Amino acid sequence: MFKSLRWRLTFWFVALTTIVYSVSALFGMWLFRIEMTSMIDEELHALVDEIRPAVACENNKPNLQEWAKTARQEPFKFLPTIQLFNSDGHLIEQHGPSGVPILFSSVKEVQAEDYHIRVLSSPLMQGKRFVGYLQLQLSLRNRERATKQFVVTMGFIFPLLLIGLGVAGYLFSAKAASPVEKSFAVLQRFMSDAGHELSTPISIIQANAEAMEAELPDKHVEHNRLAVIIRSTERMANLVKDLMLLSKMESPSIKSTKLPLDFEKLVRGVVEEFDELFKSKSIILNSENIKPATIVGDSESLKRLVTNLLQNSLRYTESPGRVAVGVRSTGRTVTLTVSDTGIGIQPESLPLIFDRFYRVDTSRSRSQGGAGLGLSIVKAIVDAHKARIDVLSKVGQGTTFTILFKGTSS
Ligand code: ADP
Repeated sequence: MFKSLRWRLTFWFVALTTIVYSVSALFGMWLFRIEMTSMIDEELHALVDEIRPAVACENNKPNLQEWAKTARQEPFKFLPTIQLFNSDGHLIEQHGPSGVPILFSSVKEVQAEDYHIRVLSSPLMQGKRFVGYLQLQLSLRNRERATKQFVVTMGFIFPLLLIGLGVAGYLFSAKAASPVEKSFAVLQRFMSDAGHELSTPISIIQANAEAMEAELPDKHVEHNRLAVIIRSTERMANLVKDLMLLSKMESPSIKSTKLPLDFEKLVRGVVEEFDELFKSKSIILNSENIKPATIVGDSESLKRLVTNLLQNSLRYTESPGRVAVGVRSTGRTVTLTVSDTGIGIQPESLPLIFDRFYRVDTSRSRSQGGAGLGLSIVKAIVDAHKARIDVLSKVGQGTTFTILFKGTSS
């Protein structure tokens, strides 16, 4: 139980950290791109400011002829495409690598072949007259390359981080769960010790009450009182037994012996024990679907599991009802089903029925002799066999419990 708690804590720890890491990585990448783009824009603006004074203007036509002669001797730190457009928007001059002959009136990012370019256009004025545009275009290959590198680095760190977090998470959860484990062990020891201490005086009371009842004549006034004492002591003895069994099932130090067993025979044996009880309540007990199956398990606890399920269907089904028990084997899995046409369970109670002392209808359950431990014991046995239990129920129509065990051929 605590092993699975540790793994669950570790899983949630790793899952949450992975989400935080992924969100941070995506956010970091977004910030990184924004920062790089704004740096490129700054460079483009600086370059426009540097080139603009060199633009000559003849007959209202801008040109960079003079500037181009000197610029070749002093190459730029980075290589933009420089384009001049006239006031009608026609490209009239181009320097540097070939660009896209489109005019934009502001800063824009466009797709050019297989890469993006950043375009900055700045209007050119001669006095008060608008004469055209000076436009710079810069390939964003470097930004894409840097972003790719960023993603690769984050992707490379991720598995290492995952392993580190997994180990740290497991150690951390073991430390965090340790006080809970200790108090659980103390509680279990207490339950087991108290159970042992209580069972002896209860048996003494029971034996003495039974002896007294046997000695009294049937019509004696004390006869009924003694019968009540005997019934109550019997319930108390059963309750103590159930609590001891639960603490034994959940104790990690006590391992029950599990052997391959004839599950069909085991289930049929329990069904036969219930036959008379079902007949006396005029409820049909159908065992036609109990087929041959073998599972590895502890026969005593498996008998208890079937008993508890049958006891419940008997308790919560009225005459003329029907209860069907089935065993089916597919080799890989063995399925046990116990279904009844009883009172059913409300959907909101379904997640709680396996809790200790939980009863949907306390007074009804108590009057039928139930203490709310039957299904907790079933669940503990199911867990000890690494099986799975499902329950389907409809109020007024009935309930089906399905248990899936691993088959012997898996
Ligand atoms: P109890 O000893 O009260 O039967 P259990 O742990 O066996 O306790 O069951 C818990 C509760 O689940 C019961 O009180 C009952 O309300 C409900 N329950 C269990 N089995 C059935 C069933 N076959 N049909 C209807 N209700 C059921």
